[in-house]
Amino acid sequence: MKKVKLEDYIPLVGEATIEEIKLLAQQLKGARIQHINSTKTGGGVAEILNQLVPLMNEIGLEVEWDVIEGTEEFFDLTKSFHVALHGARTRITQKMFQIYKKMQVVNQEKIDKNADFVILHDPQPLGLSEFRQREKSKWIWCCHIDISEADTRVWRFLSPLVDLVDGAIFHIPQFTKADLDIPQYVMPPFIDPFSDKNRDLRESEIYKFLKKYGFSTDERFILQVSRFDKLKDPLGALQAFKIVQKSFNVPFVYIGNFAPDDPPGKRVYEEFVQEANKIPGVKVIANPDPNDLVVNAFQRSASVVLQKSIREGFGLVVTEAMWKKQAVIGGDTGGIRYQIVDEATGFLVNTVEGAAFWTRQLLSNPKLATLLGEQAYDRVRANFLPPHYLRHLLCVLLSAKHPGRGVTCLNK
Ligand code: UDP
Repeated sequence: MKKVKLEDYIPLVGEATIEEIKLLAQQLKGARIQHINSTKTGGGVAEILNQLVPLMNEIGLEVEWDVIEGTEEFFDLTKSFHVALHGARTRITQKMFQIYKKMQVVNQEKIDKNADFVILHDPQPLGLSEFRQREKSKWIWCCHIDISEADTRVWRFLSPLVDLVDGAIFHIPQFTKADLDIPQYVMPPFIDPFSDKNRDLRESEIYKFLKKYGFSTDERFILQVSRFDKLKDPLGALQAFKIVQKSFNVPFVYIGNFAPDDPPGKRVYEEFVQEANKIPGVKVIANPDPNDLVVNAFQRSASVVLQKSIREGFGLVVTEAMWKKQAVIGGDTGGIRYQIVDEATGFLVNTVEGAAFWTRQLLSNPKLATLLGEQAYDRVRANFLPPHYLRHLLCVLLSAKHPGRGVTCLNK
C-alpha cells in the first residue's frame, strides 16, 4: 500500500482541518508518544493504531506502539472484565483481580514508559498506571468499550487505576463516568479510507476475492463481519437469516476472525459453525485471506450488511460498511447507536425479528438501500476519518499539559 500523507485527506475533510492539525502538531513537535495495548492484530484498537501511528509520526511526533504480554489466564480474565464492563453477565472472582495485578508487574518491567505521553488502550494495560513516574510524563487512558452499565465490582477495581492517569478518552458521551476525578474527553474513532480494508476496489479485484470464496459479483448476499464473540451475536444474526430465508433465497455470509487477547473466540466459532451447518445457504469464512481485501470486497458487494451486536464499543466494522455506502442494520447499542441515524443512514434493531424485518425491506427495496447508503457515507466522511481523530487527540494531549476537570466533547 502506498504511504498515505496528511495532505491526501484534503479532498475528504477540507484544507482547514489539515491546517489545524499542523498548527496543533507544531505545539507538540518532537514529543515522544507511546501507545500501549494488548494485541497487534484483531479487533478495532489494532485497526486504529495501525493507521494512526504512521500518521502521527508524519506530523513530527515520535510515536511508538508497544503491546503488553499476557498468559492465556490473563487474557481470559481481561475478556471477562471486558464482558462485565459492557454490562453483560459473567463470572468474576477475587483471584482474577490478583492475576491482573501480577501481570501488570511483569509488563511494567518489560515496557519502557518514559515517553512524554503514554496512551493506554482499554483495560488490559491500564494497571501500568500504578507504575508511572508522575512528574515525567502525561498519561491518558483510551477506553474503546461501552462502560455505561459496567459491572460495579470490576469498575470499582479499575476506576482507581483510571484516576492515576491525567485524562480518559471515551467514544461517545454516554460512556463517560461521573465518579472519575480526572478530565474526560469524548471523541469517536475513525476508519482509514485509503487502507486496503476501505479503499476503492477495481471490479476485477472484487471479482477475484468473491470468487475465491465461491461467490460472483452479480450474486446477492447478506453479510456480517465480526470477531467470533458472543457480544457480536453471531447466533442472533443466524436466527434473523432463518426468518429472511422464508421469503428470499439469498445466502448469508459470516466473515470472522480471532484476536490473541480473546481466547474464548475459538469456542464461539465452534458453536457457531455447528449451528450454521444446520442451515442451508450459510457460508462461514474464518480468517479470510488476505483479510483486509476480502473484507473490503464483501462489504462492497453485500446486498445487506448486518451487525447484530448486543453490546458494542464503537463498532468500526459498521463505519467501514457505511463508508462503502451500505445501509447497515445494527444492534441498538453502544457506538452503533451513535453511528446509525435510525432510518436515515441505516436501521437500529433490538431483536432478531427487527433485524429480519429490515433485511427483507432492504432486499425488496434496493432504491431505499441506495439512498440510505449514500447518507451513511456522508456521515462517515463528516465525522469518522483519521484527520478528525488526529485533531481531537492532539487537543487532548495539549490539554493534558493544562489539566482541568469535567467532560469535554470534542466532536460535534
Ligand atoms: N475484522 C477483520 N476481519 C474479520 C473480522 C473483523 O478484519 O474477519 C475487522 C473489522 O473489519 C473491524 C475490526 O475487525 O475493522 C473490528 O472492529 P470493531 O470496532 O467493529 O469491533 P471489535 O472487534 O474491536 O470489538
